[in-house]
Amino acid sequence: MGLQEKNYFLAFRESLLCDQHERFLFSEVELESLDVEISFHLPDVSNKSYQIAVLKDEGKRLFLEALDLRSALSQTDNEDEFSILSAAAQVVTWHASFKYCPRCATELMMDEMDLAKVCPSCGHHQYPRLSPCIIVLVRNGEKCLLAHSSKFKSGRYSTLAGFIEAGESAEHAVEREVMEEVGIKVKNIEYVCSQSWPFPHSFMLGFMADYSEGEITPDGEEILSADWFSVDDLPTIPPKFTISRQLIDKFIEEM
Ligand SMILES: [Zn+2]
Repeated sequence: MGLQEKNYFLAFRESLLCDQHERFLFSEVELESLDVEISFHLPDVSNKSYQIAVLKDEGKRLFLEALDLRSALSQTDNEDEFSILSAAAQVVTWHASFKYCPRCATELMMDEMDLAKVCPSCGHHQYPRLSPCIIVLVRNGEKCLLAHSSKFKSGRYSTLAGFIEAGESAEHAVEREVMEEVGIKVKNIEYVCSQSWPFPHSFMLGFMADYSEGEITPDGEEILSADWFSVDDLPTIPPKFTISRQLIDKFIEEM
């Protein structure tokens, strides 16, 4: 058995780094001249080992710049690379955001066994943060519901999404979010797929549902406009790598 190849992500504060050619994985040799504060082991993917090396100071990363995560994810054409890049981004954000114990304010240390931090004073464990969300495509015969959010670029429409609240099931969150955002009832809620979404730490559970009753009434805050669209008359929709697009593509296939 030879030594397993190691792939390093480099990071500074909350950002993953890349070189001038947008390369974001580095070899062990390339790390030697850099001042590393801490490194994390990420889950192995396709028999490859991934680590994140967080650099101590910016001065020594002259040839590096902040990675444009959306652009890097959009250029990824395989699921393994998407998931490891997404994991690396979430771990870096977590590391930068959770330095101290939320119970007793002691500086946290890395856990020796898990991808977690532990408080040396009170033993509290802090794991990378994940926020569960639902995302849902609502069908109505040959049309689907797409909405324009106040956070989107002009003209972009997508499926509805929102955070799951404490104590709530994902299915209930689907019913509630659709009602809150566009004022309609849905039925036949069916789980399709999930995706980790590193902006900054969402875990998206994707659903399809059927229209039941009510008139589309955008809430006017989060959702500015929403309508039923047929597959041959779609507005500008999210890029291929998003779970929203996967749901829309599944609907197109069904039609
Ligand atoms: Zn503590």
